[in-house]
Amino acid sequence: MKPPICCICYKRLDNLDKGGLIYFKKRLSDKKWDKRMEENGMVGHPPYAEWFCEDHYAKAKELKHLTIVEAMNLIKA
Ligand SMILES: [Zn+2]
Repeated sequence: MKPPICCICYKRLDNLDKGGLIYFKKRLSDKKWDKRMEENGMVGHPPYAEWFCEDHYAKAKELKHLTIVEAMNLIKA
């Protein structure tokens, strides 16, 4: 897992009750990543998951039905 730093504003998440990790909809490449990690018994930070601080968590959560690329475009807009 990556350290808990907001992917939008790069603020470090000291309080994980307010912010957190959001898992977005998996793209085909994400499903392949999952499969590869499982087959090799590896663990890592999923390419479809990111940390969000308390300022950005609610917005990210609303968009988790989208892929990470689509959601990021909307959050950053
Ligand atoms: Zn943030």
